[in-house]
Amino acid sequence: MSNVLSGLRACVAADGVLDDAETLGLYSQDVYRSGEQAIAVLRPASRDEVSAVVATAARQGLGIYARGGGMSYTDAYLAGSGEAIVLDLSRLDRVLHIAAEDLYAVVEPGCTWAALDAALAPHGLRSVFWGPMSGKVATVGGAMSQGAVTFGSARNGSSAGAALGFEVVLGDGRVLRTGSDGQPGHVPFFRPYGPDFTGLFTGDAGALGIKTAIALQLEPRPACGDGLSFAFADFDGLRRAISEVSRQGLATEIFGAEAALVQLMTGEQTLADGISALMAAGRAQGNAWRALRQMVRIARHGRKFLGTARYTASFLTEAPDARRLRLALDDLRAVIGPLGLEIPNTMAAVTRAMPFPDPMLLGPEGRRLLPLHAIVPHSRVAGLHEAFSAWQGGRRESLAAHDVLVFLVYATCGRSGFLYEPVIYWRDSWPELHRRSTPPEMLARWTEAPAAPAARALVEQLRQELVELFYAHGAAHLQIGRSYPWSRGRDPAALALFDAIKGELDPSGAINPGALMAGREDADGSSTDLRRQTR
Ligand SMILES: Cc1cc2nc3c(=O)[nH]c(=O)nc-3n(C[C@H](O)[C@H](O)[C@H](O)COP(=O)(O)OP(=O)(O)OC[C@H]3O[C@@H](n4cnc5c(N)ncnc54)[C@H](O)[C@@H]3O)c2cc1C
Repeated sequence: MSNVLSGLRACVAADGVLDDAETLGLYSQDVYRSGEQAIAVLRPASRDEVSAVVATAARQGLGIYARGGGMSYTDAYLAGSGEAIVLDLSRLDRVLHIAAEDLYAVVEPGCTWAALDAALAPHGLRSVFWGPMSGKVATVGGAMSQGAVTFGSARNGSSAGAALGFEVVLGDGRVLRTGSDGQPGHVPFFRPYGPDFTGLFTGDAGALGIKTAIALQLEPRPACGDGLSFAFADFDGLRRAISEVSRQGLATEIFGAEAALVQLMTGEQTLADGISALMAAGRAQGNAWRALRQMVRIARHGRKFLGTARYTASFLTEAPDARRLRLALDDLRAVIGPLGLEIPNTMAAVTRAMPFPDPMLLGPEGRRLLPLHAIVPHSRVAGLHEAFSAWQGGRRESLAAHDVLVFLVYATCGRSGFLYEPVIYWRDSWPELHRRSTPPEMLARWTEAPAAPAARALVEQLRQELVELFYAHGAAHLQIGRSYPWSRGRDPAALALFDAIKGELDPSGAINPGALMAGREDADGSSTDLRRQTR
């Protein structure tokens, strides 16, 4: 093993290899659970270092698990065997080029969405998908490799839509460029030049290669933005409002949630949190009076509406000037007004002011959390909700016995995708990743629960049941990792094509083995499992 390590050390600068027990433990965790510990964490600082590390590790028969911000929860970068390295891409974090006239930017994969947005703002520009809520830590490489939604998604779809081209290090160290890039004198401004190789590497869970540069489509940064929030008495009103706004493309972002969850979360906010969030909102809009008015409105209405409403949703929109913004808000009101009750739009104001807060890896009361999601067409939302409600009704006793909570949040992805997201919360001890990622003042507010193996086992059972339920309802998924059954029941021809592509790009199968394979049936009809898939 020491020979293997010295070979890897030769590929990177002196401080580019970490193999102390604490680091290996930390890098074996994602937001949901832990995998096997790798033999080392490699931290390359250039494309050539990535290439050397990948070629060397593949020759040694090691699995290679790329990690961006480490903010995912679908076993996406968790090793299934200890004969592995983690490739930490956080040092490759530069914005390489901003082509303001041509509306594209090129970044290294470890650049966070918050850093990208900050670099583009002075140019009056933005990426057309501009990040997940975890974007203070989550990286452009991570989102492109597993698919992400949130900022810009109601109008422009997932992260994949913003990709113009990639530079990818393949499993034997070769380098490939996609789109209009990769020919002498060409630049990555145009994706649909020939077969869409860029698309091939979006949502590949990083299993087809390591992205070392990413070209993104930019747009002018809208001058004005605001949003409306509504409360809904029942799911039907919420669903119809979200679907209609989505179909008409009226919102840039949509955030729906069960009112009980909002109540649980806002119940924890101190007055100081609320005031500082609102003042930040006011500052962002360059208008402290507006923040003050918001506070008065909230004080007047309080959270009373939550007593009767079962659901709430916020619909954000943007425009190049105040007049057109007012018209856009009127359009939203016209569609949603007949279905719900308008309430103070705190969520919209705070989200616009602080799109990238510290990612919360722990939920209300310091609970562990596991989000799951299903993306379904609008016509299937009611059926999915009915099935989910029946499922939840059947689990009431076991949920109560282990104090496990399940709440729903909602969003959309483009005009056709309704995102239905149950989040499971349970009391358990805090992993190191969570402890390090949570601001100390939040940790101080809560008491850590003792390790809760029985609750954890129940959560895992619930996760598996929900994945099955989503499959039965024809759901699609982002963040596939090893959790969602992308390959189950898929056309044999499609699987053969995938195998051929994987074999060509990653001849020794070293890169993220087992990713995308959950639920795949072997030739003998048996289902593959995580350990067997991962060497
Ligand atoms: C509090 C919180 C809020 C969140 N909010 C959102 C949200 O709003 N929307 C959303 O979609 N998700 C959200 N997520 C989930 C997650 O943060 C995002 O999906 C994010 O895109 C993950 O990025 P990352 O850099 O952390 O990727 P990682 O978790 O590090 O990696 C994800 C996958 O990408 C691969 N990968 C990473 N970098 C590369 C590379 N350069 N080349 C090849 N493969 C690579 C990894 O191997 C892995 O398979 C949230 C999570 C948390 C904890």
